[in-house]
Amino acid sequence: MPIKGKILIIFGCFIFLMLLFLWLLQTVFLESFYKLVKTQNARSSTLAVVDNIDHENLKVLIERLQYEEDVNIQIFDVSGEEQLVLAQTPHPSVRLSPEILSHLIQIAEKTDKPYTELIQLENFRYPNEENNLFVGNVPPPAKNQIQTTVCAMMTTNADGQQLLVVACAPISPIDSITETLQIQLIFISFILLAIFFLLAHVLSKQIAEPIVHMNHAAQKLAAGNYQEDFSGEGYQEIAELSATLNYAARELGKVEKLRQELIANVSHDLRTPLTMIKGYSEIMRDIPGENTPENIQIIIDETTRLNSLVTDMLDLSKLQAGVMDLTPIRFNLTESIRTILTRYVKLIEQEHYKIIFSAAEDVWVVADELKISQVVYNLINNAIHYTGADKKVTITQTVREKTVRIAVSDTGQGISEEQKPYIWQRYYRIDQTHKRSAIGSGLGLFIVKNVLDLHGARYGVDSCEGKGSVFWFELQLDRL
Ligand code: ADP
Repeated sequence: MPIKGKILIIFGCFIFLMLLFLWLLQTVFLESFYKLVKTQNARSSTLAVVDNIDHENLKVLIERLQYEEDVNIQIFDVSGEEQLVLAQTPHPSVRLSPEILSHLIQIAEKTDKPYTELIQLENFRYPNEENNLFVGNVPPPAKNQIQTTVCAMMTTNADGQQLLVVACAPISPIDSITETLQIQLIFISFILLAIFFLLAHVLSKQIAEPIVHMNHAAQKLAAGNYQEDFSGEGYQEIAELSATLNYAARELGKVEKLRQELIANVSHDLRTPLTMIKGYSEIMRDIPGENTPENIQIIIDETTRLNSLVTDMLDLSKLQAGVMDLTPIRFNLTESIRTILTRYVKLIEQEHYKIIFSAAEDVWVVADELKISQVVYNLINNAIHYTGADKKVTITQTVREKTVRIAVSDTGQGISEEQKPYIWQRYYRIDQTHKRSAIGSGLGLFIVKNVLDLHGARYGVDSCEGKGSVFWFELQLDRL
């Protein structure tokens, strides 16, 4: 069932119960409730007078009680003689018949608690009845209809005189009040119904709308749109739910991005060796005499490299997830670079590239050999692709006190100062129309940066626009 329906039902039941309760209270139980209140008033007034029977301001107290509690208070002695008559009562004076009075005295003498009774007033006297001072033509209610709650209690004053305190709370006929209340009830019902519809509408809108919105967003998320924003506001629970969904969407987005990057990385770095294998195989197939052990060795080397690269690509995805480990070993860096360069022999022969490696001595470092080779390979590949018309690429090994610097220079267009910080970012390519852009995916330098960062190595690029670039990195020497 939709939220709106449920809210309507709950609110409807609530309003119905409220109206029913009000109706019962205002019609069925009104009279008994009214009598109960009156009895209570008479009782509390009697007790107040008894407690203050010797107080000098007793009269003031009685006057106040008569006014506030809507009662009529009289004090008698045991013979039934009225002791304290108060003028100015706000109600018609109630004159108790001698029979009732002696009946009350009899009961009150036997107990020290207030005694209450509902009595019919036969001997009822309106104030100023003799002078017929009633306002207008309104006839007074029939005397036999007048009821009063009487509360009587016996007490003894300071002079040792036994006194009967009687408080009468006349019960007015409530027919007209009931009628008024019923009209009022109809009004209240209409007002409550209006409030009910308004509240139900506002509430269901407030609760249902963000949920409906979140549902749409979740459907889009399921369809692969990880940028979806679950902006559920209003209630704490909804806000929390939307925050959780936003978090889940972000995490899913990261996983998806990682997956795409992995595919892109793999295709980028696998393409070069694959091209070489294909090239060499075609040469061996088409050109007689090219089926040499050296060429076959190159194919084997590239295949081995491909294999390592696949492992490496997986490493890169781990690296991005923050879980990649290095496998550092002590190896001859100079030799390693020489081995990498053998792969370019054909390129040098056929495309007339000049790849120069200058190293004064063999140096040893402790690092992950495969990953460092990947760095060198990427830098040389870039240099070959971006170098100038002279097709010259120079690799220089410079040994300092504790470090060795490998610099790969080309004579290409160079990189402007503004571009420099960006080239290390993944998917960044300066010239989208460059001859390599069809092949490159902008990942090479990103991989280089990650591997060197992991080694804690220093690296950078010095470039002069129009004159070429020098990509370099430094590793700690490991002298024996
Ligand atoms: P790509 O696969 O596009 O070569 P890289 O991450 O290796 O990706 O390089 C990022 C960008 O840096 C390249 O697209 C290129 O614009 C620039 N770049 C890299 N190496 C050089 C270089 N030797 N000379 C000039 N620009 C370079």
